[in-house]
Amino acid sequence: MEGSKGLIMRSTGSWYEIRSESGKVFKGRLKGKFKLKGPKTSNPVTVGDRVIYAVEDEANETVVIEEIIPRTNYIIRKSVHKTGQGQLMAANVDQAIFVMTLKSPKTSLGFLDRFLVTAEAFRIPVTIVFNKMDLLNEQEEDQIFEYAALYQELGYGILFTSIPRSQGVDEFKAMFAGKVSLLAGHSGVGKSSLLNLVSPHLNIKVKEISDFAQKGVHTTTYSTMWELGPETYLIDSPGINELGVMEIEKEELSHYFPEMRALIGECKFNNCLHISEPSCAVLKAFEAGDIAHSRYLSYLSIFENNDNRR
Ligand code: GDP
Ligand code: ZN
Repeated sequence: MEGSKGLIMRSTGSWYEIRSESGKVFKGRLKGKFKLKGPKTSNPVTVGDRVIYAVEDEANETVVIEEIIPRTNYIIRKSVHKTGQGQLMAANVDQAIFVMTLKSPKTSLGFLDRFLVTAEAFRIPVTIVFNKMDLLNEQEEDQIFEYAALYQELGYGILFTSIPRSQGVDEFKAMFAGKVSLLAGHSGVGKSSLLNLVSPHLNIKVKEISDFAQKGVHTTTYSTMWELGPETYLIDSPGINELGVMEIEKEELSHYFPEMRALIGECKFNNCLHISEPSCAVLKAFEAGDIAHSRYLSYLSIFENNDNRR
């Protein structure tokens, strides 16, 4: 029998939940002599993977995964164990939606930049959602508009939202349509509340998983995928905020800052780290005010924290 195409919605390590193209959900396992082509990780298949499967047992609705269709991208979390093998968290992610607030709670630009660097490294486009706009006075609102202008110029999507004012809510919903998305941001910024407006039946489930994820620091946690609508999925990935940037080499870091990436070729030394080298195009741009102070500070901060890597 010809293999069928499916989407991995959930995994427990050895068993996978696979959604067929017609929407039927199967339980699947990997074929015995499964050949792994992708990166070396503790788990060969992850949520978001598109696979070819064959039905094994019609009555029990079980299938065998025969092949993974090449991924457009994937997220790996560095292993906390000695094996050094990373854990695949998600694959084929179309976009990340990062929700942040200026207050209640405050999201720092450093935290945002760290997330953006990670997303750049995994080649995932990001939209930044500034939520709780209703809590801001005029001065704070100006601050947010300044941030928004900075990040928009860097190529990130921007959306202002407020649930009590119903501001940006339709746009928020529309962002998900037809895509595989990932939702990130500090706890308390309003992710669940916003999501509840997109898909009212989902809220409880998402909470459940988040709570579950917080319990076991040492247990392996897996991502889950929720269907929000036709071809519309949300990846609920525990610890997505803590991915960090551990896997990035110092020499590579500036590639993940769009405003630096464009200048790298103009530095005198081709291994320039843009810290104190002479004739550095990045430092020149920074001194001329063409690179935001906060962004360069984030660069330095990530650069220094990266030390344990080498
Ligand atoms: P999560 O941890 O990111 O999922 O955040 P929640 O969705 O649980 O929201 C945390 C708190 O913020 C809740 O009390 C929400 O009612 C509140 N909240 C969410 N969005 C807004 C908003 O736009 N304005 C205000 N004032 N409060 C909000
Ligand atoms: Zn340089």
